[in-house]
Amino acid sequence: MQTLGNLINNEAVAGRSERHATVYNPATGEPRLYVSLSSADETREAIAAAQAAFDGWSKTPPLVRARVMFRFKELLERRRDDVARLITSEHGKVFSDAQGEVTRGLEVVEFACGIPHLLKGEFSSNVGRDIDSNSLMQPLGVCVGITPFNFPAMVPLWMLPVAIACGNTFVLKPSEKDPSATMLLGELLAEAGLPAGVLNIVNGDKEAVDVLLTDERVQSVSFVGSTPIAEYIYATASAHGKRCQALGGAKNHMVVMPDADPQQVVSSLIGAAYGSAGERCMAISVAVCVGDEVADKLVGMLQGEIGQMRTGPGLGVEPEPHMGPLVTREHQQKVSGYIDLGVEEGATLVCDGRGIKVAGYENGFYLGPTLFDRVTPDMRIYQEEIFGPVLAVVRVKSFDEALQLINDHEYGNGTSIFTRDGDTARQFEENVRVGMVGVNVPIPVPMAFHCFGGWKRSVFGPLNMHGPDGVRFFTRMKTVTRRWPTGIRAGAEFAMPTMK
Ligand code: NAD
Repeated sequence: MQTLGNLINNEAVAGRSERHATVYNPATGEPRLYVSLSSADETREAIAAAQAAFDGWSKTPPLVRARVMFRFKELLERRRDDVARLITSEHGKVFSDAQGEVTRGLEVVEFACGIPHLLKGEFSSNVGRDIDSNSLMQPLGVCVGITPFNFPAMVPLWMLPVAIACGNTFVLKPSEKDPSATMLLGELLAEAGLPAGVLNIVNGDKEAVDVLLTDERVQSVSFVGSTPIAEYIYATASAHGKRCQALGGAKNHMVVMPDADPQQVVSSLIGAAYGSAGERCMAISVAVCVGDEVADKLVGMLQGEIGQMRTGPGLGVEPEPHMGPLVTREHQQKVSGYIDLGVEEGATLVCDGRGIKVAGYENGFYLGPTLFDRVTPDMRIYQEEIFGPVLAVVRVKSFDEALQLINDHEYGNGTSIFTRDGDTARQFEENVRVGMVGVNVPIPVPMAFHCFGGWKRSVFGPLNMHGPDGVRFFTRMKTVTRRWPTGIRAGAEFAMPTMK
């Protein structure tokens, strides 16, 4: 079986460490390839390549850097289905969903194509007599990205285009569960004309990550993954003097008000809860029904829709299933364990996805759509992120109770409300303690020119991904104050300079 190595200086380099992980095709359960788990020394070599490329790349005019992004955009458009096929083959999500993932990543490339405009900075003339002031947005140096399994193309693309277009060089550590799509992005960037060393991809696990967090040549760390690891990344990177943005886990609630359109709610909820088998940080995992009448109707309608859903391989079956397998056997068992737990905790299991059989794919990591009703806040299935096709219905009596429930949860990534009442929607937007809010939009993922990020324990660090925050994160501001044509020629000034 092939062993995937690293991409250093635009060249594929075989791994030298004795360690590797197995990458599976979740649809069949069969191993696809090995991925080398880089040693500390191999990781340092990737950092050295990025460091060596920094001087040349940071001095390359932004317009020239943008042209590389334009070529990358064209290549990514042309090769979108190849990237999507790799995503489906290793992650498991259905092909059309993988295509959508690539498109959402591509939008960040499009945003980065505008980098000359985004780096213009500010200028004030005559801030003092004959004195002008302007800001320079300069790149940081070697930046690092550490990414999760659930979006092997989109999440690296939240970081890479902005970081590189800003003039930084980059070392990326993809998820060891599905690295191939990420590696193809690296190859396409090289083909687009990115100079050697500007992007280096090092595959690995904690050994590689710990080098990236502590090496003094690294200036910033961007992380997306689970909350315990995000917290560790943020603490360690910060303790080593690095700028850090670390996005963590989620438990996203959708509030269903009595005046919402039931069919619109059900259609939105089904896609948001079970799309990508629930392995999305913006998946809706809790439906908060205001009133028993709303809950009874919703649960009945959901049960009907779930009965129509098809679970199967993400490629090669017509018509395309609605939902693919989970990423690994281990993850499938973990999610299945949560369904056992929900039953033990006393929630009502309305639809049970355990024990699903997909004909011809008996060894795949499948789990069917699962629905729990009468879930309460003291249950672990409510409190913890399950990250699978499991939707919990929580019943509350009022809007205020729904809002309080969401605000009390430790996570605050995304949320949404379905209502036809403008006052309720506005109150929700204003008062909910969550970073990304939808009104009659189930998965309110911000576009590339806005910023993506949650609140509370869904994020560590002040600056989010892409949009204006991305540019701010990947640049250091310098403010220049200059007087022409004369400076002080005689008589030192000892008092604090003020406008005269
Ligand atoms: P994960 O935290 O297990 O892994 C993320 C990355 O960290 C991987 O590259 C992995 O190799 C590395 N890693 C894992 N353990 C480590 C350790 N002990 N030390 C150093 N590095 C380590 O996450 P995952 O399972 O790949 O992804 C799913 C999680 O990501 C979910 O919790 C999901 O909510 C979250 N996620 C969040 C967002 C967001 O925007 N907030 C987006 C996507 C995914």
